[in-house]
Amino acid sequence: MKVPYLDLASQYRALKTEIDAAVLRVLGSTQFILGPDVTAFEQEFAAFTGTSECVAVNSGTSALHLALLACGIGPGDEVITVPFTFVATVSAIEYAGARPVLVDVEPEYLTMDPAKIEAAITPRTKAIMPVHLFGHPADMNPILAIARRHGLRVIEDAAQAHGATYQGQPCGSMGDVSCFSFYPGKNLGAYGEGGALVTADPAIAHTARLLRSWGEERRYEHLLKGFNYRMDGIQGAILRIKLRHLQAWTEARRARAAQYVAALVGSGVRVPTERPGDRHVYHVFAVRLADRDTARVRLEAAGVQTGVHYPIPVHLQPAYRNLGGAPGDFPVAEHAAGEVLSLPIYPELTPEQVDYVAAILRDGAVRGDGRTGA
Ligand SMILES: *Cc1c(COP(=O)(O)O)cnc(C)c1O
Repeated sequence: MKVPYLDLASQYRALKTEIDAAVLRVLGSTQFILGPDVTAFEQEFAAFTGTSECVAVNSGTSALHLALLACGIGPGDEVITVPFTFVATVSAIEYAGARPVLVDVEPEYLTMDPAKIEAAITPRTKAIMPVHLFGHPADMNPILAIARRHGLRVIEDAAQAHGATYQGQPCGSMGDVSCFSFYPGKNLGAYGEGGALVTADPAIAHTARLLRSWGEERRYEHLLKGFNYRMDGIQGAILRIKLRHLQAWTEARRARAAQYVAALVGSGVRVPTERPGDRHVYHVFAVRLADRDTARVRLEAAGVQTGVHYPIPVHLQPAYRNLGGAPGDFPVAEHAAGEVLSLPIYPELTPEQVDYVAAILRDGAVRGDGRTGA
């Protein structure tokens, strides 16, 4: 049996008639950039995330960059985030001219450890940027309380968390501003690059809207030094169609996750858990095991593609030596980086495929040398 890590083709086949018609409609209208579909998508996505304002842009990274700038963050400022994330979280802070200050993640959900934040706050700290890693919410209540106590902004990196909820509240609705990615492999994916920021603060939305399009309110009148970060009309039209399916797709992901968890009980493989009261959307289904690399090779030989998110924490990346990180600085992140293994998970994955993947992983775990991640 072949189990690809991702299968974007079967989802496209299911929606082909509708998507093709929408794309042709945009082409016919020549609304190639922004336009009515992007505006309508912004309204629909703001409602989906429980916010009032959405600014659609050309990537999740652009959304993070504009969110920081719209919060007034720049050179001389510090932003607290985590080393165990996709590198874009940290890159965007440097794009804004600010300094990323990393704090370790907590061991259960691998999201920002609130107990580590206060020691990292300095007079230069302006914001905290938690990441809802893999689609599981960061522990927002203590993070928001610390931010309030110290007068800091909170910017959610929700690039992996479309539809996730923390204690009943949608990811994206809790911070001052929150950022999503519509990279094709994300839970809500465009057919190209895309992203958005959402906020309840009209001033943040207004600044971000100016910055995404050269700082113009009126043509050729530049109020701010801006960027070309606009969303394509075609992506807006596609995302509107796909957003209508997102709840059902998320339920399918959650069902596959529950099936994996049941199938891996007693295997010695550590499965992801969900904080009571929260809703994990399983952008990534990351198990943990000590013999990760061996398991990965065995799965590959059996036709199962897997991923590793992420093998090197940001503070140990060659490109981020400037942050002054060294092995041992963030032990939870470093330990996780050596153990995590992402199994295929997507709405179109069949129950038979889940059983097959779990069976191969189980056999290997039992046959192994007794070292497990549990
Ligand atoms: C995907 C992702 C981003 C960046 O989004 P792009 O659309 O690829 O620019 C940022 N942060 C996290 C956590 C991501 O997973």
